[in-house]
Amino acid sequence: MQYNAPLTEMQFLLKDVFKASEVWQSVPALSEAIDMDTAAAILEEGAKITQNLIAPLNRDGDEEGVRFEQGRVLTPKGYREAYQTYAESGWVGLSGEPEYGGMGMPKMLGVLFDEMVYSASNAFALYGSLTAGAALCIAAHGEESLKQTYLPKLYSGEWSGAMDMTEPQSGSDLSQLRTKAVAQEDGSYRLTGSKIFITGGDHDLTDNVVHLVLAKLPDAPGGSRGISLFLVPKFKVNPDGSVGEANGVSCGAVEHKMGIKASATCVINFDDAEGFLVGRVNRGLVAMFTMMNYERLSIGIQGLGCGEAAYQLAVNYARERKQGKGSGRGLGGEADPIVVHGDVRRMLLEIASVTEAGRALSVYTGMQLDLAKLGAGEVQKQAATQVAMLTPLAKAFFTDKGLESTVAAQQVFGGHGYIREWGVEQLVRDVRIAQIYEGTNGIQALDLLGRKVLGDRGQALSQLKAQVTQELEGLGAPWQGYRTQLLALFDALLDKAAELGNSSTRNDAINSAATDYLHATGYAVYGWMWLKMVKAAEAGEMEPEFVARKGMLARYFFERQLPRADYHLQVIHQDPEVIMAMPNDWF
Ligand SMILES: Cc1cc2nc3c(=O)[nH]c(=O)nc-3n(C[C@H](O)[C@H](O)[C@H](O)COP(=O)(O)OP(=O)(O)OC[C@H]3O[C@@H](n4cnc5c(N)ncnc54)[C@H](O)[C@@H]3O)c2cc1C
Repeated sequence: MQYNAPLTEMQFLLKDVFKASEVWQSVPALSEAIDMDTAAAILEEGAKITQNLIAPLNRDGDEEGVRFEQGRVLTPKGYREAYQTYAESGWVGLSGEPEYGGMGMPKMLGVLFDEMVYSASNAFALYGSLTAGAALCIAAHGEESLKQTYLPKLYSGEWSGAMDMTEPQSGSDLSQLRTKAVAQEDGSYRLTGSKIFITGGDHDLTDNVVHLVLAKLPDAPGGSRGISLFLVPKFKVNPDGSVGEANGVSCGAVEHKMGIKASATCVINFDDAEGFLVGRVNRGLVAMFTMMNYERLSIGIQGLGCGEAAYQLAVNYARERKQGKGSGRGLGGEADPIVVHGDVRRMLLEIASVTEAGRALSVYTGMQLDLAKLGAGEVQKQAATQVAMLTPLAKAFFTDKGLESTVAAQQVFGGHGYIREWGVEQLVRDVRIAQIYEGTNGIQALDLLGRKVLGDRGQALSQLKAQVTQELEGLGAPWQGYRTQLLALFDALLDKAAELGNSSTRNDAINSAATDYLHATGYAVYGWMWLKMVKAAEAGEMEPEFVARKGMLARYFFERQLPRADYHLQVIHQDPEVIMAMPNDWF
């Protein structure tokens, strides 16, 4: 697949919209490590490796898929060599801790590289993404000896990481998991149980796979408060750090899937495997959430990356494919390229307006992750609150829009979009999983509305509205009118939340409303991102064409997309009777 990283756009976000230099200067841990020139150089190198090494593997990887032969999981041709080059160049450890061999780059920059890798190949991206997430969790919650043994190998890409939560009877509801961990006299644990759907659970890309496994101790309390987290390597590690004997971890099967066919999705069996506690006993979910927040943003970015890749394919096609005539062309003569037609332009504008807003939100969320981790005082506290609220929103809204974008791009191709050779149907298949794993989008919506908005009686959302109000002061026409419209939407979101919080059938009301509420919030936040981009573009030094294009996309968003938020709010009822009334056995 031909892919061109949108570098100008990415640099505009860092430099003009989010003033990355000022942010980095304000944080001691980042001020020495990074400046705009270094960031630009990293993005350029990222563009080269994703365009030249990873994107060319995407189509063949899909055709060949992962194979499971005599107990071994084999990735498609070229994957192992490409992964080694990718890891050796430092990309897995880009945002890792410098003390243990990571590059210490801010997440605000890392999200842009993540997007490039997902645009180039979803399946390839997942191996590095899970590894970086596992390393983040070990760095935040692991004992010093675990950090020293595992982090350098994960950052260097010699070993990879996997996240082992799901079991056949335990998906969204982790309290039902059955994998057991028994404490040993030497302080280690022995794990027995079976996990399903484990991404990168086994493969031939690296010499060891480091599993982060949720399990229960025999005397653990019931429910989600009795879950602990363990590090379980596929191969034990010798005292000198080399790979040792097998550790009772085996792959039982590899799933056959709709998409991401080059990503190994494994059944992983633990048979008295040696493991080490990460974080505190029975507090495994807290520790796992460090990894999940990171992965959730990353999986959101899978949606964005697919939207961008689909846009590039669709624009090229729409410029070349000639069918019908544009208005005023009369009869006879050659047909026009389909990009002249209003309906085709609508589809391209839909994709661009959500992808560019989503990219801005990914950088903003990355910035809040950096400030929550490395900032101090009130700045740190506020950033942590925003990360908690924006992560489920970004995961679900980016991926819902990602699927819509790839389907719109497929539509631009007409019948050719359904045929494999153009690559757009692979994007539709590959992006679909992003709405399901890492917590389904329904679960993200419940998290946003139930815990993050209503959990503090709308305080975090009110604070966000105050920030938006202040940041968007001083806009000229027509943006001032859009700002008024946007602030009214934030008020409507707060009112609706209060209404649901007071519902006499509160739990059903929240559960029935959550997805619509998340979508309405998504449009509001994208509107904020669009006005920030317009303001920065008009004040900055970008080319006039870039500024004008941003303005046109912003107008499209406000005229054609934002009104959808009204619909989503309108269908939410305080009394969810219309959804809950039908008896279960009438479905
Ligand atoms: C390709 C692939 C890769 C994966 N990778 C990993 C991995 O690396 N590690 C890992 O641990 N897992 C992984 N998973 C598992 C994935 O995270 C789960 O499939 C997902 O969390 C949903 O769980 P489930 O499939 O059991 O669905 P269920 O939990 O059974 O959900 C079914 C439906 O019910 C809804 N639902 C469930 N509970 C509620 C509720 N309380 N309120 C409202 N709606 C609800 C859900 O939103 C969904 O629509 C992967 C899955 C796939 C397919």
